[in-house]
Amino acid sequence: MDMLINGTAAPAADGSWIDVKNPATGEFIDRVPRGSSGDVDAAVDAAEHAFGSWSEKTMRDRGLILSRAAELVRRDHKDLAHLLTCEQGKPLRESIDEVRGCANILEYYASIAGQPAGEAVHLGKAGDCLVTRVPLGVCGAIIPWNMPVIIMGWKVGPALLAGNTLILKPASTTPLTNLRIAGLFQEAGLPAGALNIVTGPGESVGEALVRHRKVKKISFTGNCVTGHKIQEIAGNQLKALTLELGGSDPMIVMADADIPKAVEGALRGRFYNAGQVCTAVKRLYLHQQIAAEFIRLLTAKVEAMKIGNGLLPGTDMGPLNSQSQYDRITSVVTDINDREEGKILTGGSPVTGQEFTNGFFYRPTLIADVSPDAAVLKNEIFGPVLPMVVVPDLGTAIREANRSSYGLGASVWTRDISTVKEVFQNVHAGIIWVNRHLTIPPEVPFGGTNESGIGRENGFHALDSYTQTKTLFLGW
Ligand code: NDP
Repeated sequence: MDMLINGTAAPAADGSWIDVKNPATGEFIDRVPRGSSGDVDAAVDAAEHAFGSWSEKTMRDRGLILSRAAELVRRDHKDLAHLLTCEQGKPLRESIDEVRGCANILEYYASIAGQPAGEAVHLGKAGDCLVTRVPLGVCGAIIPWNMPVIIMGWKVGPALLAGNTLILKPASTTPLTNLRIAGLFQEAGLPAGALNIVTGPGESVGEALVRHRKVKKISFTGNCVTGHKIQEIAGNQLKALTLELGGSDPMIVMADADIPKAVEGALRGRFYNAGQVCTAVKRLYLHQQIAAEFIRLLTAKVEAMKIGNGLLPGTDMGPLNSQSQYDRITSVVTDINDREEGKILTGGSPVTGQEFTNGFFYRPTLIADVSPDAAVLKNEIFGPVLPMVVVPDLGTAIREANRSSYGLGASVWTRDISTVKEVFQNVHAGIIWVNRHLTIPPEVPFGGTNESGIGRENGFHALDSYTQTKTLFLGW
């Protein structure tokens, strides 16, 4: 599949390719151009040219195109979901959720088109000010492989609605569904150059996009180290930035919680998408009164999960996305064993068997008796491994929850509003869920504090972040 530059399918300038393989089988699916900084230059020129007419449209007209694109994503959702499972690995029903989620985001942004985006300020006899919001210009989006379709929606929806044009760089293991969706934007009537997709390695194509002087904003989702690098380069150029760098979300279960519901929450919260979600439950804090029962129920559910190729009906968890992901998770578990940081209750090894030999399958893993100082509680575990800690009271749970350098999300499972208040006021995170985890509606700002990044996706907050104010001062 070619890149998309200026509304046209484009091979790499130097004719080289990246193979995209199915992480469940190792089979070749398709190839995409191994782009270079020259391709980024061409895409930025196209986006700059398209900016004039795109930004001059009314927001309502831009919203209509987003709305049409959403319809087309819904029309093709089965094919898109199939392709997503093939390149990413997740079970088909999760891919369907994700593709529909992308359509929901585009529809949400279409629905707020034309709502007041500025303000009027009356200054008495001195005059009146009209504060308008104008787009930034050419923007860049760099996205990861874990949820490539939903994250594309988070970035493309508000950027285009605000009147910007965009260059999106997909992850090298999951570029195909992003390219297909970009094609649907063309079909929906998006002018050539308003959305360009440049494929290729992060270190060259991604970095060239961040370094490009004409790119006014970068929105990045991915790992912390890359995020810091991007911030350094962008900071030198005074570029606007949104950085979503992951998390190590705590889930706190109190003695008064609805235990079966909380067990389901932990199961989905940790093992959805094989645990490769920024807001997954990455640390579980269980009140000592219910810990034994909770762990017994959760272990039974984890052991009943069906692991396999995401295309097969009934699969609960697919493979990890890549060899490097597989190596990372294997080494996380080896370290836990070597340092005697906890006791593996279930999992802790690759899945064996003929049908798994060419894929990156790892068993869902529960770790009990984890010591509060364990490294596994400090670092983000981006895979199906869940460390569990028993706590004597809420104060301890909150203190332990805050020991991570991340601060993306957190959840508390309780029936007691005073517990909710304590957690909401004291746990450092961008979102606190009560009796659920993971849900991120398009209307609600999403993003974290500390090492989880800066800025917000979703809602009016994201739309604002793709604009700047411009004020007309009318002196009477
Ligand atoms: P990366 O941050 O390396 O990749 C994310 C995106 O950034 C990809 O498109 C990648 O391109 C691109 N990229 C890589 N290097 C650069 C660079 N120097 N300049 C600009 N863009 C770049 O994440 P990984 O794929 O390495 O994932 C590693 C870890 O990151 C995970 O284990 C997890 O901890 C975390 N992560 C967090 C996510 C989140 O949702 N917050 C999502 C994904 C990962 P390419 O694919 O070509 O390398």
